[in-house]
Amino acid sequence: MTSFNISTVGCQMNVSDSEKLSSSLVKMGFESKNSYEESSIIVVNTCVVRQSAEDTTTGFLGKLRKIKTKSPEKIIVVMGCMVGPDSSLLKKRFSHVDLWARPQEFYPILDLLSVRFNKDMEGCLSDLAPISPKISAFVPIVHGCNKFCTFCIIPFRRGKETSRDLSEIYDEIDIMVDRGLKEVTLLGQNVDSYGHDLKQRLDLADLVEKIHEIKGLERIRFLTSHPNDMSRRIINLVADLPKVCENINLPVQAGDNTVLVNMRRGYTVTQYLKKIDFIKNKIPDISLTTDLIVGFPNETNEQFQNSINLLKKVQFDKVHVAAYSNRNGTYASRKLPDNIDRSTKKERLNLVDELQKNIQKSLNSKMLAKNYQILVEGRKRGVMHGRTRTDKIVYLNNNLNKLLDDSIIGKMMDVKITDYSSWSLSADVIKNQLNKFEEIKV
Ligand code: SF4
Repeated sequence: MTSFNISTVGCQMNVSDSEKLSSSLVKMGFESKNSYEESSIIVVNTCVVRQSAEDTTTGFLGKLRKIKTKSPEKIIVVMGCMVGPDSSLLKKRFSHVDLWARPQEFYPILDLLSVRFNKDMEGCLSDLAPISPKISAFVPIVHGCNKFCTFCIIPFRRGKETSRDLSEIYDEIDIMVDRGLKEVTLLGQNVDSYGHDLKQRLDLADLVEKIHEIKGLERIRFLTSHPNDMSRRIINLVADLPKVCENINLPVQAGDNTVLVNMRRGYTVTQYLKKIDFIKNKIPDISLTTDLIVGFPNETNEQFQNSINLLKKVQFDKVHVAAYSNRNGTYASRKLPDNIDRSTKKERLNLVDELQKNIQKSLNSKMLAKNYQILVEGRKRGVMHGRTRTDKIVYLNNNLNKLLDDSIIGKMMDVKITDYSSWSLSADVIKNQLNKFEEIKV
């Protein structure tokens, strides 16, 4: 059987695209292999958010040149964010690549492979839902971004915001639920802008309300949000709809107004905090996460301290922190000097990590001895684990791991928290729960 391998770099959007492509290729009669060296079709799904990710891909493409020279019959496809609207330079530089496809451009890939290997692609494009989805899956709903933050390459590579059709998204999730999906995370670079480009007047709230109707779907999440586009209606849905989880990612990027202007984020610290206050008042159990950049061009110690103060004030459940790195092609790379030295960036990263470690530990300690519902996701090194609605990882205690078999994966369980750290929790299954799951073998 002709085999394929897909290497995926980057975010959950890429993971989702790779899963879809993989399902289509299996439906067409190709066989998935773990090794690219042993595969006849090699697909590289690329990311360019960081220079290091792009460098990794170009290094890998160099390796593939040797493979193609040795075995010219192999097909090499590059897809994802590295492929911009004009791929002529890439084609020149990597002449051994057979096809360049932009994110979600599945048709040309399937078309090429169906012709080259004489396969029927009928029906493979219309049903791109993974054949065996995981318990929890990411589904892109809007691609691209119209914001043009000065440090970000995404709008240049992924283009303008383009929302997927509501019924297409609904059908895809519905099929996946039929195949075992329990939890969906709706994805977009700016997920709250879903629908703004569509002819029908739709937004994320309309989509979430519709998806909420799918029987068998237990949980709905969405990311990534932009503070300016997260409407009160969306926040109200998180508060009111039972399947929508109390978990919001609201990237702040900096806690200082001058830095925010330099980043062209379009809001002030006060406006951001006002939104956070509204969310906390409306959804008292909310878990909040954010993204933060330290060492942005010209960031002074005082400005960094303002970011620290914001973290202390909000008490986020998680902070995705990164040191600023110059990204060719962005406004910042042309106009703002990358003038914060590496050791200062590292020091600022460490300070954020240390602070967050303590904040997260303190927040998790409040969950001790309380009951929560988790969605059981699987085993890690033999230990069964799941996640709360607030996206906290919970490991079931040892005595249970011997008793419970894998049939509980994908089930909701009520648990009592017995221990915690900054990053995870341990729990016992509430005793009478075990009787509820007749199929659980104990
Ligand atoms: S909103 Fe996000 S994806 Fe869009 S430009 Fe800003 S950082 Fe990039």
